[in-house]
Amino acid sequence: MPPLLEKILQNPKFKKQDSALIERAYFFAKAAHGGQKRMSGEEYITHPLHAAYFLSELGFDAITVAACLLHDTVEDTSLTAKNIEKEFGKEISFLVDGVTKLAKIEYSEKHGLDQKQNANHISSLKKMFFAMADDIRVILIKLADRYHNMETLKYLPQEDQKRIAKETLEIYAPIAARLGMGYLKGQFEDMAFPYIYPAEYSWLIKQIKTKYADNLNYAERTKPLIKRKLQDAGIEITEMNSRIKHYYSLYQKLLRYDMDFNKIFDLVAMRIILPDIKSCYEALGVIHNFYKPLPGLIKDYISLPKPNGYQSLHTTIFCEKGKIVEIQIRTAEMHEYAENGIAAHWAYSESGKKKPVKTDTKDIQWVTQLKNFLKEIKTGEEFSNLKIDFFKNRIFVFTPKGEVKDLPEGATPVDFAYAIHTDLGHAILGAKANNKMVPLHYELRNGDMVEILKGKNPKPSFDWLKIVKTAEARKKIKSWFRDSPSPQNLQFVELANSAVLSQARPGQALPGIKKPAQRKPISISKNSIRTLSEPLIQGQSGLLYKLAKCCNPTPDKKIRGYMTVNRGVSIHLTSCSNIKSAQETRILSAHWPIEKSEK
Ligand code: MN
Repeated sequence: MPPLLEKILQNPKFKKQDSALIERAYFFAKAAHGGQKRMSGEEYITHPLHAAYFLSELGFDAITVAACLLHDTVEDTSLTAKNIEKEFGKEISFLVDGVTKLAKIEYSEKHGLDQKQNANHISSLKKMFFAMADDIRVILIKLADRYHNMETLKYLPQEDQKRIAKETLEIYAPIAARLGMGYLKGQFEDMAFPYIYPAEYSWLIKQIKTKYADNLNYAERTKPLIKRKLQDAGIEITEMNSRIKHYYSLYQKLLRYDMDFNKIFDLVAMRIILPDIKSCYEALGVIHNFYKPLPGLIKDYISLPKPNGYQSLHTTIFCEKGKIVEIQIRTAEMHEYAENGIAAHWAYSESGKKKPVKTDTKDIQWVTQLKNFLKEIKTGEEFSNLKIDFFKNRIFVFTPKGEVKDLPEGATPVDFAYAIHTDLGHAILGAKANNKMVPLHYELRNGDMVEILKGKNPKPSFDWLKIVKTAEARKKIKSWFRDSPSPQNLQFVELANSAVLSQARPGQALPGIKKPAQRKPISISKNSIRTLSEPLIQGQSGLLYKLAKCCNPTPDKKIRGYMTVNRGVSIHLTSCSNIKSAQETRILSAHWPIEKSEK
């Protein structure tokens, strides 16, 4: 038995049957991967084993650890999800299947995107990650998987290194951060940093070598002095340590501060862990009593936690010998949460000993949902198969180039085309989803790869308003009809807003097309009949029209419409000689509403 497996099995939280399950999953996966090797030359099974160890250390249950051991079997061996289900049951096969599905989300740099588009693309990928994972444990397995892949990144070809590192930095680190896993986020960033910015990385390492050592030294010498002051004030200290800032986050901070190390006060921060919240505030008071704080740098994340749930008091003080130092004060639970986030909640809810940290902040919808999810854990409900509903009503659709568009459920290719570009929306003729032709009203599904077939000229249809789901597409379609100079579109002017330009009468000046608000109120009395029996043109009501003077069409006679150049549709009697000699392509069907014409 490999030592790492032994270590997992020795975890006191696993009961006998847990260990048996994990062991069985290990040997099953090992057999499945057979002679497969990692790029490092090691046996393939070392990879899922390391990832599983990572999760067991974070306190995850046997089911999750076992699923992690099996996470690459469906993707990389001849086994199917059915095989896994038969051997290990529904829950584990569900998790393995979830991890397999996530494998298709891959970040690759898109060329020709500006900064904002690229940021949108990345944000969509992140959301998609959550939307496609059916269970939070799927994401955690994926994070553990990525952690080990980053640890062994040096064995991969250079071009893969860069892509994977970038994906880790752009997608995985932020996801870890969102889940409150501060430690993992920092690790991800620092592991990716040298692959993406090698020159900057070595510059930074050179710069901080002595700086870190000096600062750590200073912190070690100062610790007992602060400790003493707190103890004298009757504050019991659980633990006190110093933390070194992660390289990548330091580099990011330097970029914001003119690369000036003198402006960075938290190269090394001192952390004080206390038994309860009351002591945290007391300790802050004692420290400020002895050391002057820098104004504006006292942060109370206990009463106002960060969106991901992070809680702590931060203050930056003129410490011993006038040195500026950042102090972080928090309880053990807050500390555990700051490091391990959702995993800490998990471990607590299982052991039932400690209470998870309370989070109460306003943020974007999905963070709220994450919070609700955490609340569920708090109440100690059954923790398996928790659906991730953050993006329940969103779908994520790929362009042929791999860009992702985030759309509401029920969105159609028309929405998708407009989401890419207004002109593409206007000119859409058809669409292919996963290389098959689909109708324009086709409901797109998560993960569809959609290709838009476009015509030469913009040609929106009014019917599209019935099939689009996004406000963006709706707006663009309407404004095309409103703004397009083409006379053919006049018939649709205002229909979009179901307004009533139809009161325009022969000889009357037409209201400004763009300012429907200025139109006159409907006149009643003498004109009421005509107003009420407004002709339907091509089956539509509410179009801009006027009654032709030449033949005086009345509601009891058959009529046709003639598309004028800039005055909407002129209504003639079918028998009118003018319409008989008119250009055919401009003739529209028209009739009086049935009730009215019967009168
Ligand atoms: Mn893997």
